[in-house]
Amino acid sequence: MMKVGITGGIGSGKSTVCRLFRERGIPVYDSDAEAKRLMQEDAALRQRIAARFGAETYRDGRLDRARLAERVFGDAEELSALNALVHPAVMADFARWSDSQQAPYVVLESAILFEAGLEHAVQRTVAVLAPEALRIERTCRRDGTDAEAVRRRIAAQMDDDTRSRRADVSIVNIFEEDLAPAVAELDRRFRYEAAHA
Ligand code: ATP
Repeated sequence: MMKVGITGGIGSGKSTVCRLFRERGIPVYDSDAEAKRLMQEDAALRQRIAARFGAETYRDGRLDRARLAERVFGDAEELSALNALVHPAVMADFARWSDSQQAPYVVLESAILFEAGLEHAVQRTVAVLAPEALRIERTCRRDGTDAEAVRRRIAAQMDDDTRSRRADVSIVNIFEEDLAPAVAELDRRFRYEAAHA
């Protein structure tokens, strides 16, 4: 099964792009959502997290997300320890999920495709890009947060130049009406490549 990784910074529109792939019949694995689910449901992963971050990370069997976030927030070492536990579980789940899909190809959506080395789990990579001012405006409108907080998030992420250099294809998401045709063209290309691989 051919796998396509789609990434982009905050407010770039990667979820919107992924929705358009879904609407065209392509299964999309939302690695962020699945990571959250696995931290709750995967017994082996739960055990590893509890062993590293303390049994109280799970309160009455539920992940205490706020507590864990506090532990890893701004602490690179703790965050990478958590990622080292979660990422392999997500990749194993993604591989299982991919094998069970009946589709021309599948999409892996991840904000940290390159940062986490998940690009090695896919054969094609797509970067969704947009000017910073637009990303800030979209995110503020969507989440009701202030521009400064979004700016800080952007500064902590990989920059768009690096992203576009590392990706096989870039989608520049500025005008809403351009997005569906851009996705349609890419979808046609990936269907062709998957069929002729
Ligand atoms: P995050 O990393 O924060 O999840 P994202 O890259 O997934 O962000 P989206 O949620 O897809 O970004 O888009 C951010 C917001 O901008 C959403 O409210 C979306 O509807 C809107 N948006 C995305 N693309 C466009 C566009 N071309 N024109 C107008 N609005 C857009």
